[in-house]
Amino acid sequence: MTSTPPAVRSPRSAGNVGVAADPEPRVDGARVLRTVEELAWFGADERGGVSRLGFSPADDEARRYLADAAREVGLVPTVDPAGNLIVRRPGARTDVPALLMGSHLDSVSNGGRLDGAYGVAAAWEVLRVLAAHDTPLRYEPVAIAFANEEGSLFPYPFWGSLAVVGQLDNPEDATDVNGASLRRPLRETGGDLDRTAEAAWPPGSVGAYLELHIEQGPVLERAGVTIGVVDAVVGRTIFDLVVTGRQNHAGTTPMDGRADALTAAARLVLAVESVARDRKLCAVATVGVLTIEPGVTNAVPGLVRMSAEIRDNRADRLATAEAAVLAEVARVDSAGEVDATVRAVTRFGPVPTEPALRDVITAAARELGLSHRTMPSGAGHDAQIIAAIAPIGMIFVPSRGGVSHAPDEDSDDAHLIAGAEVLLRAALRL
Ligand SMILES: [Zn+2]
Repeated sequence: MTSTPPAVRSPRSAGNVGVAADPEPRVDGARVLRTVEELAWFGADERGGVSRLGFSPADDEARRYLADAAREVGLVPTVDPAGNLIVRRPGARTDVPALLMGSHLDSVSNGGRLDGAYGVAAAWEVLRVLAAHDTPLRYEPVAIAFANEEGSLFPYPFWGSLAVVGQLDNPEDATDVNGASLRRPLRETGGDLDRTAEAAWPPGSVGAYLELHIEQGPVLERAGVTIGVVDAVVGRTIFDLVVTGRQNHAGTTPMDGRADALTAAARLVLAVESVARDRKLCAVATVGVLTIEPGVTNAVPGLVRMSAEIRDNRADRLATAEAAVLAEVARVDSAGEVDATVRAVTRFGPVPTEPALRDVITAAARELGLSHRTMPSGAGHDAQIIAAIAPIGMIFVPSRGGVSHAPDEDSDDAHLIAGAEVLLRAALRL
């Protein structure tokens, strides 16, 4: 793959924003696909996929490209002090709340071309269509590309959306994974590390937030359904577990005299899994980290540190599953062979979407003759942050094979276009 980024081409710049009286505005599906395609050039990874880490040079180029593209068609791009790229219609009304639409532009390392970028491309298109049609709207439509949602280079996930809701903690200390300050990269994007507080939107200024995203899971594809209406972004509890046994010689310690930290930890791994798989107390449960000390072939393991995380879209179920994990650890501990301790280190509650916005999205899908179903989001999104200041709605389209955060991440063109149409219809219904 060559790495020449695309210039802003003439099809996009054909004609400035004029006002037409079309009663049935539609998105230009080919244009949405082309924007997605062109964005994939920025940070194109030679292993396939995209590595466009937040506040990296590739990320910066992508936002410049999108800002130019907006300007070319008469829209008005600005960058807020936190580095969010915000686009408005010329003469945007300030006397009514905004209908904010968008997602993020940054990717994980060696991720796919659709996660985030698709929602941004569609929001750009919908804003362009709304700017070109004289449709009366209750809210002023505004498109936004949130900065650094993934937090892969600067480990502050949801940086941009947290700034919008005024919840960025100690931004001036922000450094990348190598310890370099965010100050210069942020300035290069048009932001200012000393003024990130000014990126916060005042209460009441956002009437609704809509985010279109690929599902990143297999549910819609398996069901043969085109549109997912998200009812909640799942909550998550992350635990640190420590199992302490007795390190000893693997050859001379008889089997009945051992305190093997790893075999006890293995029982815990299966117990955590069964909290979701067999007991169905929560949606998913995962042990993703396991470190063994001393980790050599000829010693009985003396210490194991492990993580466990559980997710569900209902707070009461999450609490029940949490208690079940604690009980499993207590059971292993009280068996007496080893000591087992557990601590919940991170807790995000589930964030429901706004029922009225779910209805609007459902009605939009129905109007377009698209199959749809209500479903939770298992992954985190900027929407869950924006929920602190505005009603949120989320639209999903199917992911091929349920693959995401990988170069193979893909969706059918027809699904990508359908999602953008639903976003436009939903905006018009508001
Ligand atoms: Zn995303």
